[in-house]
Amino acid sequence: MLKLLVFVLVLAAIFWGRRLISQMGKASRPRASSKQAPNAERMLACHRCGLHVPESEGVTQREHFYCCDAHARGQDD
Ligand SMILES: [Zn+2]
Repeated sequence: MLKLLVFVLVLAAIFWGRRLISQMGKASRPRASSKQAPNAERMLACHRCGLHVPESEGVTQREHFYCCDAHARGQDD
């Protein structure tokens, strides 16, 4: 009977521990939800055409921000 009690306690500890780890994982990964919350990301204007795009989707070159590779290279489309 004591073995059964220990077994149940171990199962409860594993269950509780996994819940704690999954909660910590959610808290330490705020970037995973960046696609669903575009408002949280900084919008920057393209130095060439003025289009506003999220910082992660544009290109930063020679201290200027561009909406795409073509504008970063100084080409038209
Ligand atoms: Zn542009």
